[in-house]
Amino acid sequence: MPELFVDGEWTGAVHGARRDVVNPFDASVVQQVDDADEADVDLAVRAARRAFDRGDWSDAPTRERADVLLDVSRFLLRDQEEIAHVETLDTGKTLAEARIDVEDVSNAFRYFGEIADKDGGRVVDVGPDVLSRVTHHPVGVCALIAPWNYPLLQASWKVAPALAAGNTFVLKPSETTPLSTIHMIRLIAEAGAPAGVANLVLGPGSTVGAAMSAHAEVDLVSFTGGLATGRRIMEACAPGVKNLALELGGKNPNVVFADCDFETAVDHALEASFLHSGQVCSAGSRLLVEDSLHDRFVERLAARAGTIRLGSGLDPRTESGPLSSAEHREKVEGYLEIAREEGARLVCGGRRPDDPELSRGFFLLPTVYADCDRSMRIVQEEVFGPVVTVERFRSEDEAVELANDTRYGLAGGLWTSDASRAQRVAARLRHGTVWINDFHPYVPQAEWGGFGRSGFGRELGPTGLREYQEAKHIYQNLRPAPGGWFKG
Ligand code: NAD
Repeated sequence: MPELFVDGEWTGAVHGARRDVVNPFDASVVQQVDDADEADVDLAVRAARRAFDRGDWSDAPTRERADVLLDVSRFLLRDQEEIAHVETLDTGKTLAEARIDVEDVSNAFRYFGEIADKDGGRVVDVGPDVLSRVTHHPVGVCALIAPWNYPLLQASWKVAPALAAGNTFVLKPSETTPLSTIHMIRLIAEAGAPAGVANLVLGPGSTVGAAMSAHAEVDLVSFTGGLATGRRIMEACAPGVKNLALELGGKNPNVVFADCDFETAVDHALEASFLHSGQVCSAGSRLLVEDSLHDRFVERLAARAGTIRLGSGLDPRTESGPLSSAEHREKVEGYLEIAREEGARLVCGGRRPDDPELSRGFFLLPTVYADCDRSMRIVQEEVFGPVVTVERFRSEDEAVELANDTRYGLAGGLWTSDASRAQRVAARLRHGTVWINDFHPYVPQAEWGGFGRSGFGRELGPTGLREYQEAKHIYQNLRPAPGGWFKG
């Protein structure tokens, strides 16, 4: 079956191109998929436009749209094993993590399905002679562009609210990880979304993604990915003054006070840094440790990092998989070189593993750098690999100052047994999510997104639905009479 989905039909690319999807564990080809170009984007956007204007989705009672989302939520759990399997083959992540991703995706569809018909707008009190209401309406045709680290999860945070609000869309997953997204589109069709509501194009960002952002019939672009790409997309959206939401990178502080529960904080620092080989936008890759605890903490962290079992995501003994591609590993290795030149002290890792069984995959050892400071690029730039830097702090004020000294502002964590300090510091952190005595959890009910150059707009939560809606004020004068403004 071809892999592009346009106007309710599975179809090949107009110009017939195909692309290999590569397994990062051993560089083998998982399968070939159709590879779109600008011509396919044009067909998909026009199909989405026609479907939106037809109104059988955009004007449908919210309850009908909600039912489709709730069906998709159930189908995702029905197909959980199959989807998790392809997600692991595509990304290299462990099957255990991929299964959790599918549950989270199902939860996102359920959440937006459940809130879709709960909001009838707002009545504004202007007085007895006026009926004034604020109502919310779909924006129109949405171009949704997703990254490779959480392919299905990131796509679902866009697709579910876009559908709930009554939009139509064209979705592009990363060219390196399309398989789980293909499956999700099948489920949306199975759930009964009308033809043209959900469209899927596959292919490179520089052509397919760029054409989606620039297309005159697109009303809204929602993008998750890197900062440099985000800037390009902003430029592409400017001429059409399109609605835009950007979920960009992060360099997320994880602040450890000396009064924390030591073993719990070490354990979560490990997960914050090395889950999915650090290829997580909210990875706690910038560790700030109070001076009096610093040496003991770094020693324990490094000892445990050295025991992380690398391997195939399909092997249940594996704790962490490879990086996503050969090119991405080279980029991360470039940062290892930068760290060395900058004088960061390598405590563990810093190279590829020796194990010959891993030699065909794109592996790197979990890496800890100590003696870091905020002037270093390794501290300030998003590495997006299994690399954590450690800095010291001596006071609460200094901890806050360092944690906020980033151009990003996606997420951060802090560890302390002092409840008052926990709330005080959380309030001062300039990050979209702050975890206290935890790291990484997110829930569909709560907004997700960044301060600063981590982007703008929010996914999830009630705001995540609003991103896909236009507000309209409807004002009705119940006792119309001449105003008498002009006297003639
Ligand atoms: P990327 O920016 O290279 O690519 C993301 C998507 O954009 C891909 O589908 C790609 O094909 C497409 N793209 C590339 N160039 C484009 C262009 N000129 N126009 C339109 N689309 C284009 O990012 P990536 O390497 O896939 O993902 C990693 C980045 O994503 C990291 O910076 C990470 O922090 C970020 N991320 C952020 C969040 C968040 O919630 N804030 C979540 C996950 C990942």
